[in-house]
Amino acid sequence: MSTLTSVSGFPRIGQNRELKKIIEGYWKGANDLAAVKSTAAELRAKHWKLQQAAGIDLIPSNDFSYYDQMLDTAILLNVIPKRYERLAFENPEDTLFAMARGYQGEKGDVTALPMKKWFTTNYHYLVPEVEPGEEIKLNSTKPFDEFNEAKALGILTKPVLIGPYTFLKLARTDQATELEYDKGLVNAVAAVYAEVLTKFNELGAEWLQLEEPYLVLDKEPGDVELFKTLYTKILAAKAGVKVLLNTYFGHIADVYETVNLLGFDGIGLDLNEGREENLEAVAKYGVASNTTIFAGVINGRNIWRNNYATSLGLVDALKQVTPNVAVSTASSLLHVPFSTEGETGIPTEDLKHFAFAVEKLDELKEVAVLADATEDEKKVSEALAANQALFDGTRVAADPAVADRVNGLTADDYVRQPAREERQKLQREALGLPLLPTTTIGSFPQTKEVRAERAKFRKGEITKEAYDEFIKAQIDACIKHQEEIGLDVLVHGEFERNDMVEYFGQNLNGFLFTKNAWVQSYGTRCVKPPIVWGDVSRAKPITVAWSAYAQSRTNHVMKGMLTGPVTILNWSWPREDITHEEQTKQLALAIRDEVLDLEAAGIKVIQIDEAALREKLPLRKSDWHVKYLDWAVPAFRLVHSAVKPTTQIHTHMCYSEFNDIIRDIDAMDADVISFEASRGDLVVLDAIHDAHFETEAGPGVYDIHSPRIPSEKEIEDRIYEILKKMDVEKVWINPDCGLKTRGNAETWPSLEHLVAAAKAVRAKL
Ligand code: GLN
Ligand code: ZN
Repeated sequence: MSTLTSVSGFPRIGQNRELKKIIEGYWKGANDLAAVKSTAAELRAKHWKLQQAAGIDLIPSNDFSYYDQMLDTAILLNVIPKRYERLAFENPEDTLFAMARGYQGEKGDVTALPMKKWFTTNYHYLVPEVEPGEEIKLNSTKPFDEFNEAKALGILTKPVLIGPYTFLKLARTDQATELEYDKGLVNAVAAVYAEVLTKFNELGAEWLQLEEPYLVLDKEPGDVELFKTLYTKILAAKAGVKVLLNTYFGHIADVYETVNLLGFDGIGLDLNEGREENLEAVAKYGVASNTTIFAGVINGRNIWRNNYATSLGLVDALKQVTPNVAVSTASSLLHVPFSTEGETGIPTEDLKHFAFAVEKLDELKEVAVLADATEDEKKVSEALAANQALFDGTRVAADPAVADRVNGLTADDYVRQPAREERQKLQREALGLPLLPTTTIGSFPQTKEVRAERAKFRKGEITKEAYDEFIKAQIDACIKHQEEIGLDVLVHGEFERNDMVEYFGQNLNGFLFTKNAWVQSYGTRCVKPPIVWGDVSRAKPITVAWSAYAQSRTNHVMKGMLTGPVTILNWSWPREDITHEEQTKQLALAIRDEVLDLEAAGIKVIQIDEAALREKLPLRKSDWHVKYLDWAVPAFRLVHSAVKPTTQIHTHMCYSEFNDIIRDIDAMDADVISFEASRGDLVVLDAIHDAHFETEAGPGVYDIHSPRIPSEKEIEDRIYEILKKMDVEKVWINPDCGLKTRGNAETWPSLEHLVAAAKAVRAKL
């Protein structure tokens, strides 16, 4: 029998982001729900057929979602908080969107569910909220409908669901705390999955894939027991349909033995991340005779071509242990762009090194074919020879000047003088800010008009002078508005930037850019990361002219706005021929040049965003420092260590999930940090309190991912909550990040309320 091929999941937003456009159209009232449904069905059909044409055996269904697969799972299990049910929408889709984005209208006013990063990706899931006494039951036919839809097209798919263990570990109570896994809850959840299994059996499914990425995390007491309890119950309901337990983003060596004994028909292992540990575990404990190992060899998180020789070696290693080996994508392809087709801006010589989702399908098939080939057949295989040629020789021309600079760094380059406490005093005098200073995270709404002007400039329809004048007018208006509502530290608004990473990449040597390589970030939002192609250095000053212009237009302090090295790397597609540490150092030196130029241009406050620093924290605690923080934190210090004591360095981070690394955040030695906090819990404040956190901090006081406008009272309450845990001298007042994604209509009234709330609290101090 030939080696089976399996795809864990496929991008759903569409080659040209059709899903994004139609859903956003629906939100704006430009099209109806029927149009959304029909586009969605077209996309599903297209994606299934593409996989079928590539010869994939196990094609996923239910990997589609209008917003998020975790939210779909919550709805499937009837985990819908009452406040959303009370809105009493006619269509379940509207309830789904209210949970995802909040709702403010004639039916009521509710905030959205919290949103968090999906493991180490830049994809965000909605955190299910299980209310006390929640009735867990099968509440949706979505997985079955999509299975039947594919079947009607003649494609027998492999339905994919987030597994019960990952669901329970990621869900929270209505108090935002971890769930207690009492018997009732666990049994109820297991019963729904058993029902799903039975149903798919009736519908004639051959395989069902349950996603359990949470298994790659360190285990807390009771975790393995919980997993066993759930699956013993679920697998007892198994009739014909085979169950594939899929894991990814790391290894499951610590539970492999248990998993292997439970009787799964398939176990999916990530052989990119966690390769050694997974292979060792398989070798050590063997593979049950009825179990197939799904070897995750095609990387679902990079854009580079697969090295077939390496993948075949991995399959061979597994075949030493068991004959039952299938090949698979290491994770869902959700995290890679659609296709390299149409990327005409990249020279063919370079483009041949890339494989996006569609190209990865062919790779998967070719690896499977080669895995079945004899040695003689391999020798004459053109596919293998062509692949080998991609990896022979060096791809990039190195820049010796960059290497020299990196090699010349000394320990002093990583230390800013004097100590922070001393600096904070000097800065207080130099900047003359009130207590609870107000500011924003940098960007202001990128309106249609702004995007249209940029498009015109890009297409050569307007001159650089005309474009610059337009941007200056935007900056002027933005400054005036900020002055009017009374913000303390102003920003220029980032109108000249398409994106906080791509913009910098475009002004650095060593990057490549795509036209259409979008990847879903949350809901309908996508990002288009640039590609690190060679050694990185700064070609010329990037932001200095804009910041200097903005400062010249106001007497307030104007904050300079940069993206930090760790974030640039994490939100780009990194090289794989040198380490991340090495690439980050190159980036840090480039941004350091920019920091010093901003300071020389009279900018007194400089924010260096490390929005994505937390995101790539390794999933296993034992890896945190050695594999990441030990170089990521120093890289940040390298960026700002040479500024004057009175220059105030801010940083910003998305999501406040850093209770456990709070000291490392302090060790970045910034003067101020703002972070996104309003849509998650505020436990980080306890960590700040307990660790005697030295950096001044601005926890976001309102959620900007939702179009709703917070009241002054709401924000005031929030500030008091913060003041319970933090020294007033160290608190900044700012919203969450990402104002660029909002409209002016909600942004300005919200900020007015923010300033009013800060003033009201100040007056009572
Ligand atoms: N300065 C950026 C902005 O305000 C930060 C974005 C982010 O946090 N992701 O848009
Ligand atoms: Zn942010």
